[in-house]
Amino acid sequence: MKVKISKNAGFCFGVKRAMNMAWNELEQRDSGVYALGPLIHNKQAVSKYEEKGLKTVDNLNEIPSNESVIIRSHGVGESVYTKSESKEITIIDTTCPFVKKIHNLAKDYSDKGYKIIVIGDKNHPEVIGINGWCKEDAIIIKTLNEIDDIDFDLNKKYCVVSQTTINPELYNSIVDKLSKILDDVIYKNTICSATKERQQSARELSNEVDCMIVIGGKHSSNTQKLVDICKDIVPTFAIETKDELNKEDLGKYNVIGVTAGASTPDWIISQVIDFIQSI
Ligand code: SF4
Repeated sequence: MKVKISKNAGFCFGVKRAMNMAWNELEQRDSGVYALGPLIHNKQAVSKYEEKGLKTVDNLNEIPSNESVIIRSHGVGESVYTKSESKEITIIDTTCPFVKKIHNLAKDYSDKGYKIIVIGDKNHPEVIGINGWCKEDAIIIKTLNEIDDIDFDLNKKYCVVSQTTINPELYNSIVDKLSKILDDVIYKNTICSATKERQQSARELSNEVDCMIVIGGKHSSNTQKLVDICKDIVPTFAIETKDELNKEDLGKYNVIGVTAGASTPDWIISQVIDFIQSI
């Protein structure tokens, strides 16, 4: 039996960097490392970090002075930095550099008098963070139809940015519609290609194997999207860990492909590969 691993399976560059930075911090400190919100949407990974001493909180008020806080790869608004400083909380900033770039754009253009438009989900932590760099005054657009209900001030200049994980087709259709309404507007396409590349690699691998195993959270939307892509091509097993696999199901396949959602750590992928190779 042969195992093929998809390119771009699991953590993207930004999440891998953030998780490594958080782990290094936990290794260096005896106590007092907090995460502002769950570090990642993977319960096995979160448990591993909590066993190492990480405490997850929802609010800076829950962190005592002189401790340290990990800011996740999604990033946060400017006020979190100022509040942390005033409480003498040390920041371990694991904000993905691609997200940081959006913060800088939002702040620069907002300071220059532009109204910021974010194409994205207003409840997503990344978008909440971006809005926190332009005085929490951004117009946030998630769907094409929402544009009809917005009362744009045509005397203003606009700068449009996007949530990194937004679908490129949706971005293009919203930009098209905005272009017909706004005169003075600049567009900054800040979509990150990591999700698209992971999906493309999964599609390519599905065409080369007899079945696919997709590893990732049952509630992770990017994992479910990978499952849909693969199962259109070959029989597909969606699992969170190797414990959900059994030798009888896999024994009939000669070549097995493996991919994983954006929040799946390497060690969980390795356990699955070891299990398949033991068959
Ligand atoms: S911006 Fe891209 S690389 Fe950075 S965390 Fe998000 S998906 Fe990963």
